[in-house]
Amino acid sequence: MLERCLGLRRARQIHRVFEQGKLTIVCLVLTIIVLRGTLGAGKFGTPEQDFIQIREHLHYEEHHRHRHHHRALVEEKQPKIKSAHVVRDDFEDNNKPRDPNVPYSLGPKISDWDQQRSEWLKLHPNRPNFLTPTKPRVLLVTGSSPKLCENPVGDHYLVKSIKNKIDYCRLHGMEIFYNLALLDAEMSGFWAKLPLIRMLLTSHPEVEFLWWMDSDAMFTDMAFELPWERYKDKNLVMHGWDQMVYDDKNWIGLNTGSFLLRNSQWSLDLLDVWAPMGPKGETRIEAGKVLTAYLKDRPVFEADDQSAMVYILATQRERWGEKVYLESQYYLHGYWGILVDKYEEMIEQYHPGYGDHRWPLVTHFVGCKPCGKFGDYPVERCLKQMDRAFNFGDNQILQMYGFTHKSLGSRRVKRTRNETDRPLEIKDELGLLHPKFKTKLTT
Ligand code: UDP
Ligand code: MN
Repeated sequence: MLERCLGLRRARQIHRVFEQGKLTIVCLVLTIIVLRGTLGAGKFGTPEQDFIQIREHLHYEEHHRHRHHHRALVEEKQPKIKSAHVVRDDFEDNNKPRDPNVPYSLGPKISDWDQQRSEWLKLHPNRPNFLTPTKPRVLLVTGSSPKLCENPVGDHYLVKSIKNKIDYCRLHGMEIFYNLALLDAEMSGFWAKLPLIRMLLTSHPEVEFLWWMDSDAMFTDMAFELPWERYKDKNLVMHGWDQMVYDDKNWIGLNTGSFLLRNSQWSLDLLDVWAPMGPKGETRIEAGKVLTAYLKDRPVFEADDQSAMVYILATQRERWGEKVYLESQYYLHGYWGILVDKYEEMIEQYHPGYGDHRWPLVTHFVGCKPCGKFGDYPVERCLKQMDRAFNFGDNQILQMYGFTHKSLGSRRVKRTRNETDRPLEIKDELGLLHPKFKTKLTT
């Protein structure tokens, strides 16, 4: 009505004045209430009580401001649906402090595993530990923390990494196990693999070799088959160099991000010797000091599984050395820093199947911690290069089906051949589509 009589503009002005008046009245009322409260307090309370009340009030405000501020920050970083709130994170509740004087053990001592296992194998001829006379049954084992990645994109890279491993295993007739549980709260982080490996070896007597691979390592040569023959008398195969481990005692003389362990009593014994430096807290911190003092170039930090392995081999060579193969002829583990910038060159000059510097079997993103908060390298560089490594490996899969990534940096794909109504007549370059392929490419 008013609007129609006075015109729209004028009506708005009046409305605004009215609103301002309302605000003034509200302020006046509030002032009276506050004054009454203050006077009342002065009347019935002592100055100290007033002071305490004010302080408590301020403290309460401050506390809430902090909480909200903190929550806002957390919400900004977290994914929209907070599964951390849905799934109760309670595995740390039953984490009793351990007595560091009691030596850590992975479980009841097993001393006749070879015998137990060979009896089982005789009873189960349909689950042979060798698939052909030279090709052992292999279980690839990998895993990650049960917690949400601290950096949310980290979970995406874990998916890429497991997809990559599934592909390699499928092509090479290997089984795969992904662990997402912390089996022993004390053995957290890089030590988590030890209880897991023992559990799997003793539960799967049919498995001849267990292949541990870090979640931050990816297959970049889908065609390379391991030279199993070379390891027929070996129980542990790791990428590394004898001289760097046994002579230099260098903490990077080998890498524990990708290794083979034979299902044997020897391996259970090795795990028993390997584990005691692992329990988190005092034990791991003190062990770290021993390792830094003994090993070449090792920075000061808590004990890690890799340094511990170098330490064991360097100090007890007679006991273990004979059954250990430190492999450097191909990249069972390949440090990403020296490989990722050469992928284009490799594509130009070579083809999959070599596993070495020409076409690395594994690219391992050591120190990148894509799932954690603090890595040794800028996270953008890590993620960009992880994408490239993934696509480099994935191209070998896609090409079997007539696709390829548009570039190593691109998620998008393009066709590499025309569609056909005779799909079974297609010859894929590496012959990987056919289940009985043999890698003759290296010769
Ligand atoms: N890991 C795990 N559970 C955990 C934390 C780590 O299974 O709670 C595994 C994961 O596969 C990871 C590996 O342990 O890749 C070793 O850690 P990382 O790769 O971060 O160490 P780096 O290779 O950088 O030394
Ligand atoms: Mn790693």
